Amino acid sequence: MDNESPKLLIVEDEPEMALGLRDNFEFEGYTVSTAADGEEGLRKALAEGPDLILLDIMLPKMSGLDVCRALRRRGVATPILMLTARTQEQNVVEGLETGADDYIAKPFSIRELVARVRAHLRRSAPTPCPDEYEFGGIHLDFRNYQATRGGEPLLLSPREFELLRFFVRHRGEVVTREQLLEQVWDITSRIMTRTVDNHIAKLRQKVEDEPSDPRWIVTVHRSGYKFLG
Ligand code: CA
Repeated sequence: MDNESPKLLIVEDEPEMALGLRDNFEFEGYTVSTAADGEEGLRKALAEGPDLILLDIMLPKMSGLDVCRALRRRGVATPILMLTARTQEQNVVEGLETGADDYIAKPFSIRELVARVRAHLRRSAPTPCPDEYEFGGIHLDFRNYQATRGGEPLLLSPREFELLRFFVRHRGEVVTREQLLEQVWDITSRIMTRTVDNHIAKLRQKVEDEPSDPRWIVTVHRSGYKFLG
C-alpha cells in the first residue's frame, strides 16, 4: 500500500487556516488529512501513520505540546513541525523539548512552510523495501513471494509477506497496531487490532526460534511492534 504522494496530517483548529493549508499542500501533490483538535490529531497520527505532522500548539481538548509528547512517548518518530502563533522563546523551546523537529511562527509564508516540509521529508525519507531481505537465517524474496528458512522453503501467506515488507521498510521503528491495520489490511477500526496480534503470533511461529520470547518482531508495551531484523 505504498502511496506515491507524501501523507501530511494537519492539526489546526482554525477552519480557515486548516483549509488554506490543505489546499496549498494538495496543490503541491500531498495527500492531506486534517484534525481540528488535539485528541483527534493524536488519534489520526497513530492510525494513519502520516509522513509528517503540522501541529498547531493552541488546540482544543489537548495542546499541540501534549500531542507531541504523547507521540514521542509511544516511540513515534514522524517529523513534527509546530505551528505557533506566539514567537515567545519559551513556547519554541518547550515545543522542541517535547520532541518537535521544527517550528514556524504565524503568520508565515506558505512558500517557506512548503520548503521546510519538503526539507524534513527528504531527511526522513523511508527506507525503500529491497527486493530481497535476510534476517536470522530467513531469506525473503518479495518479488516472487518466496521465502526460505535455513535453506528450507518457508510457507508464508501473502498477508504475512505484506506484514514483513512493512516491517522491513520500518525496521527499528515502533509501528502501532492501528498503522498495521491501515497499511497492511487497509482497515481503520479499533476493534480489529486483535487481528493484528493474531497474525503477528502466527508469523512469529514461522520466523522466530522462540516465538514466546521473540527476537525479531518484538512487542512495544502499549504501542505496537518493532522489527529488529
Ligand atoms: Ca489554534
